[in-house]
Amino acid sequence: MTIEVEFLGATGEVTGSCHLVTVGSHKILLDCGLIQGRTEDEARNRQAFPFDPAAIDAVVLSHAHIDHSGRLPLLIKAGFRGPVYTHRACRDLCRIMLKDSAFLYEKEVQWENRKRARKGLDMVEAMYTVEDAKVAMKQFKGLVYQQKKRILPNVTLRLNDAGHILGSSIVELWLEDEGQQRKLVFSGDLGRSGMPILEDPAVITDADLVIMESTYGDRLHRSWEETQKEIADVLSIATNGSGNILIPAFYVGRTQEILYLFAKYYKQWQLDRWQIFLDSPLAIEATRIFMNNSDLFDDDMQALFQQNKQQSILPNLHISRTTNQSIALNRVHSGAIIIAGSGMCSGGRIKQHLKHNVWRSDCHVIISGFQARGTLGRKLVDGAKRIKLWGETVQVAASIHTIGGLSAHADQTGLKNWYSNFNNQPQLVLVHGEPQAQERLSKVLQAELKVNVIIATRGQKVDLLKQ
Ligand SMILES: [Zn+2]
Ligand SMILES: [Zn+2]
Repeated sequence: MTIEVEFLGATGEVTGSCHLVTVGSHKILLDCGLIQGRTEDEARNRQAFPFDPAAIDAVVLSHAHIDHSGRLPLLIKAGFRGPVYTHRACRDLCRIMLKDSAFLYEKEVQWENRKRARKGLDMVEAMYTVEDAKVAMKQFKGLVYQQKKRILPNVTLRLNDAGHILGSSIVELWLEDEGQQRKLVFSGDLGRSGMPILEDPAVITDADLVIMESTYGDRLHRSWEETQKEIADVLSIATNGSGNILIPAFYVGRTQEILYLFAKYYKQWQLDRWQIFLDSPLAIEATRIFMNNSDLFDDDMQALFQQNKQQSILPNLHISRTTNQSIALNRVHSGAIIIAGSGMCSGGRIKQHLKHNVWRSDCHVIISGFQARGTLGRKLVDGAKRIKLWGETVQVAASIHTIGGLSAHADQTGLKNWYSNFNNQPQLVLVHGEPQAQERLSKVLQAELKVNVIIATRGQKVDLLKQ
């Protein structure tokens, strides 16, 4: 008799989410994410899976972020033939996100191989290709929230809105072996209550074992009201000058939130003085997927969406899809708000805009999300006076504004509140967090809720039959 879960990724770190559930003779994988960060960490993505991919019956995917979904094409290349169950909006997002991830690998390898050819070295292969990503999508099965589905004779699944990104899920699994039944709840990544566009994370009350993320287990976010005021302040300062505003943005989530805020406060923030450019084909595509899934919006967003259906939500929003449209923006020296990827300025069209604007003292840059160490975005946040773009040194005279409150993750209070909805304090396992955040959260939960907390280590197994 076996009902157990083994923690294989996102243990003591935020990326690489992957947990293996064994129930009797069946195996289910929760997430199959990429490890992201330092080069030596990313090298782990190429290692063989610590299980036989062909022996996995099904994957349940919590959401589309690449640190949860990004190794699926590899899993399939390695022999996994079963279904990938996820919310249908997550499936739609994965179609563009996995393709983009593959495209970047292909480009990187082309560049590397040109160098290798000159040195007479052997060629290397992309970890996976755009074609592999396309093939992987065929195994996706899109579900809706709050409907139970029997995915194996002894396993029932239900997805609930996690409010983190579009189509993100809290996973409920009812597992049965030899007459014994246990219930496992996996939080996926939890959103913030009161965040725009999406619903708040669903409340679950029953479980024998809870696996919960802990990204911001040691932090409290700035309130949503303060965050809006910060953005309004930047706009009013910038309006008095004459330069452009650059917003490096993550193409799923952050971009749509910023557009939502612009639509909602269009009059109050006097946005009619600006021309707004969405300069990212991926963000344009992701925004289209958001609009196609308007049934997932919260009441506020529904109202805004209905009210603006006849007219355009943002009358001065320009979509720049082609490279030429993007390059044309180089000639615009004032009055433009340019939203472009990538979110950490490590690639994408934002680099071009930085080159043409960041040396001007009337330019403003709004940093809207977490900037990893070593990225160009982090250098700007840390106050670099000069940056390097394509080998050229460019001085930074622009004002850099960091808006920290747009995070898509629950903070310490959010995590604590979500867990406290469970009856009878089920066993809690923390994943998806750095050690410091996990220890802090664990202490708070033990002190305030008297809950028994396990901080998952790689390869650790928890037996649900003992819960
Ligand atoms: Zn996420
Ligand atoms: Zn994550």
